[in-house]
Amino acid sequence: RNPHDALWYNSITREAVDTGAIESSAMSRGKGCWVQDASGTWYLDARAAMWNTTLGYDAERVVEAMTGQLRRLPVAQIIRYEEPSDVALEYARRLVDTLPDPLNHVRFGSTGSQMTTAAVLLSRFVRKVAGQTDRTKVIAFTNGYHGTGGIAGALTGERQMHALQAPLVPDVHHVKPWNLEALAKTVERHGPEHITAIIVEPVMGTDVLAAPDGALRHIRDLCDRHGIHLIADEVTTGFGRTGAMSVMADNRVLPDLLVLGKGITSGYFPLAALVCTDALFDEAISRPEYVFPHGCTADGHPVGMAAGLAVLDELADGSLFGHVRAVGEHLRQRLREHAATTALIHDVRGAGLMIGVELRDGDERPGAASMAEVRRACQEAGLLLTTTNSTLVLMPPLVLTETEADELVKRLVGALDDVAAARS
Ligand code: PMP
Repeated sequence: RNPHDALWYNSITREAVDTGAIESSAMSRGKGCWVQDASGTWYLDARAAMWNTTLGYDAERVVEAMTGQLRRLPVAQIIRYEEPSDVALEYARRLVDTLPDPLNHVRFGSTGSQMTTAAVLLSRFVRKVAGQTDRTKVIAFTNGYHGTGGIAGALTGERQMHALQAPLVPDVHHVKPWNLEALAKTVERHGPEHITAIIVEPVMGTDVLAAPDGALRHIRDLCDRHGIHLIADEVTTGFGRTGAMSVMADNRVLPDLLVLGKGITSGYFPLAALVCTDALFDEAISRPEYVFPHGCTADGHPVGMAAGLAVLDELADGSLFGHVRAVGEHLRQRLREHAATTALIHDVRGAGLMIGVELRDGDERPGAASMAEVRRACQEAGLLLTTTNSTLVLMPPLVLTETEADELVKRLVGALDDVAAARS
């Protein structure tokens, strides 16, 4: 029996299970930026597992830290009482030390979805403490991705996800990406006094849409004018993905709430974090008469804390950030050279090793079926990547070398040429 019959995932089809078509792509080993499937074929992983294994598949320092922690204190709690693990205390301090003041207080969870949800709940909690009980609305961008289920799913701009959640979609309203005029109008329409927060991804992972120059500052000013909290979701962009610890900090535009995940442990342990400012901490969290009613069993898991510390050690001297900027620029340059000769490539954009390659079928957006075809051609060429309805999203491990970047381009362009040839 095909094991894929038991393991259920989003893109599975009965036909693929019955014909065994997907069995050969089960992965069994990884090294650097490469993964090997059960039949022995190596793939260049330009999606870094799920955009998270920033240090690649053999980050020895992270493995050592995690196994050491497993032997010392493998489990601890953090949510309710006052005995967190020593490693959680140390990691919290080290993590906030990497961020500018006043982002000085952190809470841990297991997933980005859990922490974007916690960000909204914390924003509303602060309002409640301040007696502003009708400040509940949140504004997000349509192409944004902030997770799945409940509030996180409502923040995410996907209609399919909202349809599943209806009629329980909380008070979230969406605006087209980086349309600042529409954002200001939406704030006015809903009444700024009813809006608790605006959530942004400084570079949106879906389609790789970076905030235009000045946009983050503009949104920060809008929030300040109306007393709205700014939530920055840096689950994807944080920990070096764009060549900086945090895009917001790099732009000197600080949010009230910062959500981190993915690269936080290089994906070696499910860990995410919510960082807030001194002001929010003092106004609400630290008040003895109020308890923030949110938290899950594995929050602040000591093995995740140990992995997080090892990742900070790897990033500490900043050399990886410089590497990401240089290799990312090289990769974009090479892709642009090919864009001139490969009819399918319409645009190459991004920051650091977060790169979008937008495709066009003549004047049309290719759509889901064409993009699946391209993804399959890439897989046959030994290249793994994620796609949206029009864009190839490249987020390889940050340790990608220039030679590997050239190999990535070679495989990608070869796959696009194969698709074009099959059509003509
Ligand atoms: N925010 C962003 C920007 C993300 O890219 C993701 C995951 N792709 C999430 C939140 C949700 O994180 P998780 O999948 O860990 O719940």
